[in-house]
Amino acid sequence: MTIALKNIVDSSVTCSQCQACCCRMEVMIISDTGVPDRHISVDEWGGETMLRLDDGWCSAVDRNTFLCTIYDNRPWICREFEMGSDECREEFNVIR
Ligand code: SF4
Ligand code: SF4
Repeated sequence: MTIALKNIVDSSVTCSQCQACCCRMEVMIISDTGVPDRHISVDEWGGETMLRLDDGWCSAVDRNTFLCTIYDNRPWICREFEMGSDECREEFNVIR
């Protein structure tokens, strides 16, 4: 029997080559990891997502280094997003 693998990690893809492309996606906050209020957007039903600024990136991204400035308190979804995964490669753009 052959079991199809759906999410193979590509080790040639690294965040150091990428301008935090996944940090332009909508990130729902579904558990309390200590995200500071200034980075949280609350919709009319009370749903919380990471605030994105006019440039499209999450407000917690350092615009110079493209690193997360709240790494130890980043949402659960950010912790689960795997570098080199299918989802990552859909967003990934090599810095030119
Ligand atoms: S899209 Fe992938 S390579 Fe780019 S920052 Fe996110 S996890 Fe890293
Ligand atoms: S919290 Fe950090 S890792 Fe998550 S989207 Fe914002 S900058 Fe990226």
